[in-house]
Amino acid sequence: MMDKKIICKNCKNEFVWSVQEQELYNHRELPPPDYCPICRGIIEARSKDSARSKYERRT
Ligand SMILES: [Zn+2]
Repeated sequence: MMDKKIICKNCKNEFVWSVQEQELYNHRELPPPDYCPICRGIIEARSKDSARSKYERRT
């Protein structure tokens, strides 16, 4: 296996999908990532924020 280069669907930057990560994804039977690690972090933080705001609205 070799490192692969993927274009992030969010910021359009090219990022390296490392062999280690590919093995992890294969092991978990996940599809290749669409977003770079930075955007994945942002998306995760956003989803946490929306979950929190829902909770806060409810209480
Ligand atoms: Zn990105």
